Amino acid sequence: SKQLGGNRITFYETEMKQKILSRFELENYLRKALKRSEFFLCYQPVIDLENGTIIANEALIRWNQPRLGLVSPAEFIPLAEEIGLIDEIGRWVLNEACQQTKKWQQIGMHHLGIAVNVSGKQLQNPAFFQEVRLALKHSGLDSNYLTLELTESAMIQKLHSSIKVMRALQKMGIKISIDDFGTGYSSLSYLRSLPINSLKIDRSFVNNIQETPIDMAIVKAIITMGEGLEVDIVAEGVETREQADILRELQCDYAQGYFIQKPLASHEFEAFANREIRI
Ligand code: C2E
Ligand code: CA
Ligand code: CA
Ligand code: CA
Repeated sequence: SKQLGGNRITFYETEMKQKILSRFELENYLRKALKRSEFFLCYQPVIDLENGTIIANEALIRWNQPRLGLVSPAEFIPLAEEIGLIDEIGRWVLNEACQQTKKWQQIGMHHLGIAVNVSGKQLQNPAFFQEVRLALKHSGLDSNYLTLELTESAMIQKLHSSIKVMRALQKMGIKISIDDFGTGYSSLSYLRSLPINSLKIDRSFVNNIQETPIDMAIVKAIITMGEGLEVDIVAEGVETREQADILRELQCDYAQGYFIQKPLASHEFEAFANREIRI
């Protein structure tokens, strides 16, 4: 009936308004988040599969918005990229991660590294190289301990200029890792020309390694390719002992995931690192 139709329109309009409002609100909250110190970093350990040593952490940003609670980076990072906030947020992450890692090195974890996620937009910012240099300088962290994680799509957006920046960063001693490896446009021809130090096998392959033969085959192939390219291989999303055992047998170098440790707030990481790790 006409009335029902009318109600439906009202319903949809309301729903649409709510969506628009909440995005608009989210955007406004996000613009204020840095000033209000609502961001913090969690640290997820990466271990050497041969001996269980923690070699580094990955810094993962968290946003605690007083009214919304914890907002996932999968939600706000794309928004930050879209509305031009990613450079500022990325700079904060980089500085915070380097400073924290330097502190941990000073209290005894002398060779602890840090991996920082970098979005394609950041890489394309002409000021990026200088900002990385400054983060190292201000924190006093040696460049050898910093890894930048980039996805394939971030690198190939502007392949030529990306390669230039990546080379300059490498020359400074920084390491470059391809994140979510296997999910992008992995073409062997450009892999050969990319200046990279490690590949991070996407967790979608790692997760089904026991039960899905094709995923096992893919993981094996990536590890073999890593040997050929002379890059380190990191497996992300390791959730079970069985997965860790298989990866070790396949001679995967490093692993990360809930089986080893979930991302931790800085004080929690200190407690974790002080315990002996057995895997
Ligand atoms: P990512 O870089 O692929 O990070 C790995 C994600 O997997 C993290 O989610 C982590 O908490 C989660 N994870 C770790 N181990 C396991 C596991 O064993 N099983 C499962 N199912 N998940 C696991 P998180 O922290 O929610 O981050 C999501 C994404 O947001 C990241 O994916 C990254 O793309 C982005 N991100 C996070 N922090 C930053 C940042 O500081 N800068 C930028 N540009 N992006 C960030
Ligand atoms: Ca990552
Ligand atoms: Ca990843
Ligand atoms: Ca991912």
